[in-house]
Amino acid sequence: MLELYENCSLCPRLCGSDRLGKEDGIGKKGFCGETHKLRVAYVGPHFGEEPPISGKTGSGTVFFAGCSLRCSFCQNHQISNEGLGGEITLEGLSKKLEDIILNDNVHNINFVTPDHFFPHVFLSVSILRANGFDLPIAYNLSGYQAIESLRIAEDFCDIYLPDFKYSDTSLAARLSSCADYPGIALGAIAEMVRQKGFLDSCLTDSDLARKGVLVRHLILPGKTENSINALTSLFLEFGPELPLSIMSQYFPVLEHRDKDMNRIISEEEFSRVYSHALDLGFENLFVQFPDSSSASGQEACSSFLPDFSKERPFG
Ligand code: SF4
Repeated sequence: MLELYENCSLCPRLCGSDRLGKEDGIGKKGFCGETHKLRVAYVGPHFGEEPPISGKTGSGTVFFAGCSLRCSFCQNHQISNEGLGGEITLEGLSKKLEDIILNDNVHNINFVTPDHFFPHVFLSVSILRANGFDLPIAYNLSGYQAIESLRIAEDFCDIYLPDFKYSDTSLAARLSSCADYPGIALGAIAEMVRQKGFLDSCLTDSDLARKGVLVRHLILPGKTENSINALTSLFLEFGPELPLSIMSQYFPVLEHRDKDMNRIISEEEFSRVYSHALDLGFENLFVQFPDSSSASGQEACSSFLPDFSKERPFG
């Protein structure tokens, strides 16, 4: 499995980097900033996902160092762009996963932005399964995934939680250096839906999800047209039953040249996007409503920001 790090094409960047470094044992970093050495910033229960994922006892999250997308506004910039995270062995990760399953009773294991470490993720899922743990495995993804990697992932995943960030190619180029995002992400989500269907808890009204796809969209300040067109594309492609999560928690973590990106979203922006989702007729919506006063709105959004320099990044 680790040979997938050779001439790496795990994500659509297709860097071709020799991350394995058979000759020097070190390997070269690709766009994601990582070699074949597994690096993780946090393993633990997390309660900030949608209710069928977090449930009462939390989702067992694994946050990796590095990222194949590296958005300029990343809410997890400490780990995606700035290298925070520590090296860990496959055995070490497996032990931590078993600890949070047994001690914290998490509902699932949730690999967050894992695609640049897919080989290690697949191996750790195999170890969990071999040790008798059958809780659902979720992949929390950017949407910018290679179909070939998803085909391998099919046997090691139950729940896909992809973003659909952009319908606007120039915005995708500006903020995430990937003008091809809209087409690639729609194709990737179609493959995820082909494999797992829609999130089962939405179809059966059960409290916790065990399988399926839930798509997320984060509204960006000053970019409502992007959001509106993104929702329209999702509706046309997948229909009204697609489980969709609309998020309003954007917080400016870094200074942007684009002035809009230095503020949280406004009530009006949220309302436009939310009304559009209702007008289209999405039937399985998860909605994160913004706080109504601007002062507490700032506070509310910043409260979602993790600090990965702390032992408990989510407070
Ligand atoms: S996972 Fe990293 S090295 Fe591999 S293609 Fe993507 S960005 Fe490049």
